[in-house]
Amino acid sequence: MPTPTTEERRNARVILNRLKKEYPEISTALDYVDPWNLLVATVLSAQTTDANVNKVTPVLFERWPTPEDLAAANPEEVEEVIFSTGYYRQKTKSIISLAADLVDRDDGVVPADLDELVKLRGVGRKTASVVLAEAFGIPAIAVDTHVKRVSNRLGLVSASDPVKIESALKALYPERDWEAVSMRFIQFGRDVCDARKPRCVGCLLADRCSYPDKTRE
Ligand code: SF4
Repeated sequence: MPTPTTEERRNARVILNRLKKEYPEISTALDYVDPWNLLVATVLSAQTTDANVNKVTPVLFERWPTPEDLAAANPEEVEEVIFSTGYYRQKTKSIISLAADLVDRDDGVVPADLDELVKLRGVGRKTASVVLAEAFGIPAIAVDTHVKRVSNRLGLVSASDPVKIESALKALYPERDWEAVSMRFIQFGRDVCDARKPRCVGCLLADRCSYPDKTRE
């Protein structure tokens, strides 16, 4: 991948600075007390809201507090608890297997390392990056559907593969900004740069955006 030019970096910085002004304070809305909680909560947050996840995790961790407990849990009982987050069968399988992997490979301790995290079943780069950045304070860029869409529309990247997008964004921004990039692009994608109907009129990044299909009303 070509190294970004000075102008490309400057443009990327202007974009992030505007988003930082728009969203001065931002962090995950998922409730958690430790990396283990956040790891499970992040897996459960697929295709649902963080608020929905926050309703079930207190019950989940009350009944199965540790990876050892969850690895040994009866799947049907777990399904009942997380039912309201949707895709509950698949999510139950995922969190039980990742708990089992954690116990087998890492003595039940969540590793603070991207390559180790993605070895756990059910944990992709996006989930791993969220946990690294949020729970461990290690610079990481989580690429979800919003980051993918926003960064392509703005012309910061030209790729559909999340790994390529992650590398391109990491090349554009200094490490200290990596988490800020993910969190703000996600919020901006939810609030303004909607997948189907972006609110381009009045968008704070319209003058920096190369998206050809901007909406006009
Ligand atoms: S101008 Fe439209 S497409 Fe471009 S970033 Fe803003 S909302 Fe998204």
